[in-house]
Amino acid sequence: MSGSKTVQVKEKKLEEISGIGPATAEKLREAGYTDLMTIAIESPRNLAEVCEIGESTAAKIINSAKEAVDIGGFETGDEILERRRSIGRLTTGSKALDELIGGGLETQSITEVYGEFGSGKTQLCHQAAVNATMPEDRGGLNGEVVIIDTENTFRPERIAQMSSAVGLDPVETLKRIHVARAYNSAHQMLLVEKAAELAKEKPVRMLVVDSLTAHFRAEYVGRGTLAERQQALNTHMHALLRFGDLHNAVILCTNQVAAKPDAFFGDPTRPIGGHIVGHTATYRVYLRKSKAGKRIARLVDSPSLPEAECVITVNEDGIRD
Ligand code: ADP
Ligand code: MG
Repeated sequence: MSGSKTVQVKEKKLEEISGIGPATAEKLREAGYTDLMTIAIESPRNLAEVCEIGESTAAKIINSAKEAVDIGGFETGDEILERRRSIGRLTTGSKALDELIGGGLETQSITEVYGEFGSGKTQLCHQAAVNATMPEDRGGLNGEVVIIDTENTFRPERIAQMSSAVGLDPVETLKRIHVARAYNSAHQMLLVEKAAELAKEKPVRMLVVDSLTAHFRAEYVGRGTLAERQQALNTHMHALLRFGDLHNAVILCTNQVAAKPDAFFGDPTRPIGGHIVGHTATYRVYLRKSKAGKRIARLVDSPSLPEAECVITVNEDGIRD
């Protein structure tokens, strides 16, 4: 799949909406309104300002966008109960880490793993991907996996290595893991829609975004763009959450700790995206390096679990106790 080809499909979509011409579409995209949902939930006033159009025109665009997207409707309480009953847990490869997060990675939730470079975030994503293909009685989800790779750090060789270590056929496992490079934040957001299309054909039970924030951070530079960055991230996170709900899937995202102080958060140990990511992710795990392949995982800001730490190991086999 070629990246530019996918982006073209997207561009056509915005312009298909009545009231959006090529110039307006360009302005919208520049302002971070890369999908119809972002437009549908915007106020006419904001949209008018950003696109330098009249408020009534903006209102028309918003209405057309609302008609074009599935805005989501009401569910009855018993439907929600039924959906919550089906929540699954996926093993990380480490019993201690599984316990820390309440029994493994939870479906219908977002788990954010953050930490500095080399702390093991990508290793954990690889391991979880392998495990998700395993049967349920082995802590898996008997499913397929979509990985949105923004930093070109996906390594099939590593998947093969981890598969062999748990007695899975490496080639069969690799066939169940679908990987796409995301070339920029707009492309990254679009790939969630592509994942939803794939999930109509394949039992996708996990969606990985590694890294969630790198493109956003690189593209939205400086104080003036912070609000836009947060808005785009917010839209992205909600699309991820929706995917998790619809497909009863684990959503696993990684986030860097800012090496230099972020424009917004002075504290270098704060994950990028701050409260936007934090409030949408149900589980946040802070990973830091320790001695000899050991890593310390800390559960942060959980609404229902105590803040606690455990030690995990990253070795040739993958993630272990
Ligand atoms: P992050 O994504 O947080 O930047 P990674 O997940 O890429 O970090 O972690 C890289 C680290 O994982 C390496 O420094 C090494 O310690 C460990 N690692 C990667 N591959 C292997 C392997 N085949 N055997 C043992 N350890 C490995
Ligand atoms: Mg990484």
